[in-house]
Amino acid sequence: MGKPTGFKEYPRKLPEKRPVEERIGDHQEIYRPFSEEDARTQAARCMDCGVATCMAGCPLGNLIPEWNDAVYRGTWKEALQRLTATNNFPEFTGRLCPAPCEETCVLAINTPAVTIEQIEKHIIEYAFARGWIQPRPPRRRSGRSVAVIGSGPTGLACAQQLNRAGHQVTVFERDRRAGGLLRYGIPDFKMDKAVLDRRLSILRREGIVFKTGVEVGTALGPEELAAFDATVLCLGATVPRDLPLPGRQLGGIHFAMTFLTQQNRINSGEGLPAGVQRILATGKDVIVIGGGDTGSDCIGTCHRQQARSVVNFQYSPRPPEERPDDQPWPYYPMRLRTSPSHEEGGERRWDILTQAFIGHNDRVQKVRTVDIDLIALADGPPQIREIPGTRREWPADLVLIAIGYGGPDHAAIAGRLGLDLDPQGVIATDARYMTRKAGIFCAGDARIGQSLIVRAIAEGRQAAREVDIFLTGTTDLPQKGCCDLPVS
Ligand SMILES: Cc1cc2nc3c(=O)[nH]c(=O)nc-3n(C[C@H](O)[C@H](O)[C@H](O)COP(=O)(O)OP(=O)(O)OC[C@H]3O[C@@H](n4cnc5c(N)ncnc54)[C@H](O)[C@@H]3O)c2cc1C
Ligand code: SF4
Repeated sequence: MGKPTGFKEYPRKLPEKRPVEERIGDHQEIYRPFSEEDARTQAARCMDCGVATCMAGCPLGNLIPEWNDAVYRGTWKEALQRLTATNNFPEFTGRLCPAPCEETCVLAINTPAVTIEQIEKHIIEYAFARGWIQPRPPRRRSGRSVAVIGSGPTGLACAQQLNRAGHQVTVFERDRRAGGLLRYGIPDFKMDKAVLDRRLSILRREGIVFKTGVEVGTALGPEELAAFDATVLCLGATVPRDLPLPGRQLGGIHFAMTFLTQQNRINSGEGLPAGVQRILATGKDVIVIGGGDTGSDCIGTCHRQQARSVVNFQYSPRPPEERPDDQPWPYYPMRLRTSPSHEEGGERRWDILTQAFIGHNDRVQKVRTVDIDLIALADGPPQIREIPGTRREWPADLVLIAIGYGGPDHAAIAGRLGLDLDPQGVIATDARYMTRKAGIFCAGDARIGQSLIVRAIAEGRQAAREVDIFLTGTTDLPQKGCCDLPVS
């Protein structure tokens, strides 16, 4: 423990955000970096608890107190070694993780938690800035080959771990460029794509081969995959849930991911495929239906496109600002979360049910809603009670549907490879991440449903261990929370 009295001396502090007027004028990242002094005083708040519950809150089991202590002492190479021992890509989680670890930090019982996520980002950026992050190709090759299908965080983590174990890894990706939702879903204002490209360059120089624009199941089938000693499906789960209401066929109603992907393609200079019409919020009244990460990313993108108004509907009640009594520490609490996109403007409405889309000349013009009460039942989903006299029509030139994801679009690939889907539509595996076909594994959102980047990395790492055992009968790759191969 660096400074026994740190948590009493220093209040929690986050890095500055760029002013709203400045940041909605571009698509660049919102947060400015911490100063070195801020990172060290924030790390000094960590109490190095006997039972480090923050580590249990992190799906990777990150060694949080160890790197906090090293940061406080200024031993940055040690901090980096402890950070990267359990996490392949702290530059992604340090920007994008909702930090469940901070909810389980012991300080959070009665005072603000340690700023774990921002310290994580500072360590890895400190290391990149000094040229410490270099490719680590394996010393020996095993002579075995693995096909990883999908280049989101699951596929990238799995590929890096298998490559470290000496296997020759080829990543197949159907999109034009690698990265999965890190590239085409998550907006640049949350993570600059240069951060992704910097990591992909390292992975390539470590010996991982990327083949993009190749769709497995169509361009590449079971015969080609049979040439590899194992295959890992890291296909994601991006089939959007729809709202099949009256008027759904009207123009101007789109899935959130279609809208977000377009802005990412424009920002990167990739442009839109021929014949695809641009969806723009500029000068429009926009309704965003759904309140998760995807909805919030739509709101931020609409502000940057200078929408006239943005209203966000959520079906559930407004959560309390503080941790509710029935969700005591260290449970992950359902409390109000306000993202930087919410702070930038727009209106958030809870307890509201969308009933119909109303239009003219085939274009949406209004959305009809009613206020509701959700009545909790002892068993089964809550019952919806419409509140009489609360019907309302909202002006809408653009409606974005962001109500979650139904699962992966894998029926075709599962059929061609002879795999089972479970009742949720995700690919079924056993406890070793293996599908019903020996040598074909599955990990990440394709196995557990749409989740978080930190879980995707954890899934990729765990699946790599199982593949290594399948190929060699043993493994040196680490389990969750255990240290990685030593840094060479
Ligand atoms: C808009 C949005 C915002 C989000 N924001 C956050 C956030 O802030 N923080 C957070 O933690 N999580 C966030 N998430 C969730 C997170 O992005 C995902 O949980 C994570 O990316 C899952 O990783 P994955 O590798 O399993 O899948 P993906 O990232 O979806 O990658 C799957 C890849 O497989 C490829 N693929 C699929 N089928 C084939 C095929 N047949 N052949 C070849 N390639 C194929 C796809 O093209 C894709 O590149 C967000 C999700 C969305 C949609
Ligand atoms: S990856 Fe997420 S949960 Fe884990 S330590 Fe970092 S911020 Fe916390």
